[in-house]
Amino acid sequence: MQTMRALTVQPGVADSLQLETFRVPGPDRGAVLVRTLGLGVCGTDREIIAAKYGTAPPGHQRLIIGHESLGRVEEAPKGSGLSAGDLVIGIVRHPDPVPCENCAAGEWDMCRNGLYTEHGINSLDGFGSEFWRLDPEYVVRLDQTLGFHGVLTEPASVVAKAWDHTERIGRRAHWDPRRVLVTGAGPVGLLAALLGVQRKLEVHVLDRTTEGIKPQLVRDLGAVYHSGGLDELPADFDVIMECTGAPSLVFAVAGRASPDGIVCLAGVSEVGATRQVDVGTLNRSIVLGDRVIFGSVNANRRHYQAAIEALAAADASWLSRLITRRVPLDRWRDGFTLEHDDVKTVIDFAPAA
Ligand SMILES: [Zn+2]
Ligand SMILES: [Zn+2]
Repeated sequence: MQTMRALTVQPGVADSLQLETFRVPGPDRGAVLVRTLGLGVCGTDREIIAAKYGTAPPGHQRLIIGHESLGRVEEAPKGSGLSAGDLVIGIVRHPDPVPCENCAAGEWDMCRNGLYTEHGINSLDGFGSEFWRLDPEYVVRLDQTLGFHGVLTEPASVVAKAWDHTERIGRRAHWDPRRVLVTGAGPVGLLAALLGVQRKLEVHVLDRTTEGIKPQLVRDLGAVYHSGGLDELPADFDVIMECTGAPSLVFAVAGRASPDGIVCLAGVSEVGATRQVDVGTLNRSIVLGDRVIFGSVNANRRHYQAAIEALAAADASWLSRLITRRVPLDRWRDGFTLEHDDVKTVIDFAPAA
């Protein structure tokens, strides 16, 4: 019997993260068997570990954590377009079983009934195990040259969707954007800035940090870094990507948008984050300036492909520096604590001996 190590939590119980040993899943869990190389860790994982989020699969107490995958195919059925040795990642969200109109159309990221499931988050085991299985339609093949940077595909897919929808909204009228503001220089903000620079836009990034690697990562993209207050910035941004969810920024950023400007909210705030907002000013800004504020989450297959293209076109050494820590699976606990100046931490499932 072949076994594997897997990182599990008991949803609803804080700090229940453990490394357990299970049998490698059989073909009933999917025709493609993948051996894990890396697992990206993000705020969603830390929220699940803090018992603020997450659901175990039906009939189970524990959930295998992890949704930012990278692995190599061990077995794949003939005709699936996949073969042993392929570098792959798994798609996080599965359509709801009904399915709703959007899930039926392959846009499960826009699910209308909320009955979707998500690996490592919501009712499906995640990718934080030495092996996982999926059906071929949920496996995305990466170019071999992407190597370990492929672990950034899932967070980049979320950003690719935010840009895709921003551009669709922009095309409601003549659209010639020039300046972009990104709030937050975490992995999502930095990837949002990367995709903005790749679109030949003038990108500005606002974060509280004044030191460490984040300002340099922004400057190395050719973007402008700001660490002062929002009010110090001009109010002429055509696109604003709000990537923090910070209550002080969520609506305040709209005041920095140009007429016709588009504000994409991509950060998730805590429930109960009350704030006084001048609804009159906000309404006037939106209505009298044709401004749009919209939310964006998750991604469908089209966005995963866009993410792969964006990562392939990025400077490889910049992507390497975005991965600030690579923690071997044996020291898994270190991978889930947030250290000063962390951008993206990855659990390395196959560290070189
Ligand atoms: Zn994530
Ligand atoms: Zn749906």
